[in-house]
Amino acid sequence: MKDNIRLLVTFGFAAILVLMFSLASVSLLQLQSINASMEKLVKVTNMKTAAVNDMRDAIRLRADSLKTMQLTQDIFERDAEHQQFINHAGKYRMAREKLVSLGLDEREAAINGELQQLTRASQPFNEDASELLMSKASAGEINPVMEQAAVLQGLILDKLEELIRLEQQNTRAALTVSRRHYNRTRQLLFVLTGMALLLSLLISRTIIKHVSAKNRQLAYLASHDPLTGLINRREFECRVERAIRNASAQGATHALLYLDLDQFKIINDTCGHATGDELLQQLAQLLLGSVRHRDTLSRLGGDEFGMLFENCPLDKAVEIANNLIKAIDDFTFTRDDTTFTLGISIGVMPIDRSTTDIASAMNAADSACYIAKESGRNQVKIAHMGDRRLQERHGEMQWASRLTRALEEDRFALYFQPIIPCSEKSVHDRHMEILVRLIDDDGSVIAPGSFLPAAEKYNLLSSIDRWVIDHTMTWLAATNSTGGNRPVIVAINLSGQTISNPGSLNYIIDKLEETGVSAEHIIFEIPETVAITNITAATSFMLTLRGCGCRFSLDDFGSSLSSFTYLKKLPVDFLKIDGAFIRDILSDPVDHAMVKSINKLGHLLGKEIIAKSVETHETADELRLMGINFLQGYVCAQPRPLNNYTQSQAPRLVLVSS
Ligand SMILES: [Mg+2]
Repeated sequence: MKDNIRLLVTFGFAAILVLMFSLASVSLLQLQSINASMEKLVKVTNMKTAAVNDMRDAIRLRADSLKTMQLTQDIFERDAEHQQFINHAGKYRMAREKLVSLGLDEREAAINGELQQLTRASQPFNEDASELLMSKASAGEINPVMEQAAVLQGLILDKLEELIRLEQQNTRAALTVSRRHYNRTRQLLFVLTGMALLLSLLISRTIIKHVSAKNRQLAYLASHDPLTGLINRREFECRVERAIRNASAQGATHALLYLDLDQFKIINDTCGHATGDELLQQLAQLLLGSVRHRDTLSRLGGDEFGMLFENCPLDKAVEIANNLIKAIDDFTFTRDDTTFTLGISIGVMPIDRSTTDIASAMNAADSACYIAKESGRNQVKIAHMGDRRLQERHGEMQWASRLTRALEEDRFALYFQPIIPCSEKSVHDRHMEILVRLIDDDGSVIAPGSFLPAAEKYNLLSSIDRWVIDHTMTWLAATNSTGGNRPVIVAINLSGQTISNPGSLNYIIDKLEETGVSAEHIIFEIPETVAITNITAATSFMLTLRGCGCRFSLDDFGSSLSSFTYLKKLPVDFLKIDGAFIRDILSDPVDHAMVKSINKLGHLLGKEIIAKSVETHETADELRLMGINFLQGYVCAQPRPLNNYTQSQAPRLVLVSS
């Protein structure tokens, strides 16, 4: 299509150029031809007319000479006049020869022929008359000859007059022909100009049509989702903004719906993205068929859709939303002999005078949809601006954007807390857990308890873990290369998202190689619940990295009832007892017994035991007496920025008793 247009425009303009060139050439040639023929015609006609006039004058003067010779008595005067008479005859001949030399047409030649006959006929009478006059003959002899000569002279003059009229006629005829040529040229010019104009119009029209079609296509692409053909988020937000303005100005009530498919990810992961795309297309048509003609349906991205019901009260919007849930519930999707059913969660946000802006309206609808999903899926939730869960969700969403920005801007900091050996046999006095802090926009330091839940919800833990791994290994490589005989050993926390992320293992192995850090100086801490929930992935993950020389610690051990069941299966080197048991060890005999049991069992399985959240010296004493290997907590040292770490500050445990 594009090539055809280019070809058409190129040939079209080439044709216009040829036409315009022909136009100019033809005009010039025609005008030159008309001018030349007119010039020639005028010149020849003038010369012919002059020759004929000369002939007529000669005839008249010859007649006058005869009369003068007849009337004069003076012999000399008569001789002179006779000479004139002969001269005029010569002039007549010369003029006639000139006329003939200019070329005669048929009619001119005919008149000339008649003139010659008359001249020949008058010749004897003229000569007779002149001889009689010169010989002084009597009037009786002269007069009849003179009369005959005069008659023939009159006839010759008539013929000459006829010839003059003929020349005038010829001039007029030539002018008519010339005018006809001119008119024909003018008509040709009109036709060629018309054709050039027509061609220009056709080309312009084609170009305009093509450009308009292109513009329409661009406008469509800018406002529509290419997969489903529904309007996209950008266009949807424009319409919602318009609805908010309308509600504010005219008090109208609209409804904004946020829809999120349940179980879509399973189909996408099981059958592939092409099938997922096909399913989205079918669902888009299903949703389109379930709403009113004037309602707006948009694909906001992924498996999320948006709807805008203009001039629709809230109860009606909820009714339509419930119908949509039923329609999706009845819908089945079959692929490779497997039938999938889907669900949908819908958040409904009323738009009225109280709606202030698009961002809060969209967030509220999104949050209501999220709560619908959290509440068991396949539900409709109405967004109430004062709703506590809605506000919590809004807070989480804000955290998500703050964390994404912080990752982009590298605004995290590493802290460390020492893990102190209790027994004399343990020499890992430079063993520490690495902790992460967020540096906020204003430079304040934010503890992980504030942002990690949101990071987990928005799948950002893996990215944060990578940031920690990268910066810790770089620091460790630099510290251990100058740290003397006893290297620092760091414990790095890993989340469930990192364990289940297929790229994590390669990332860690690449980092070990890149930084040159010795794997035996790295201990990865995995929360017990994460390890148990993803037991297969976690075991495989641990075995691979243990093969490289890394060690593992099971963090928050004891928090799950099934801890002991899995302990034998998990290839870990350390057990870090959950702080909840440690805190009350002196006052709660059950906690005391639990810690004692974990310690005993752990040692039996060849693990080393770490007690975390040790806050008092008394607790530390009791744990040491129990035979716990390491202590970590405020009683030993508070977390401090890793940048402030120096070898001389390596803490040692000071015991209260013994
Ligand atoms: Mg930990």
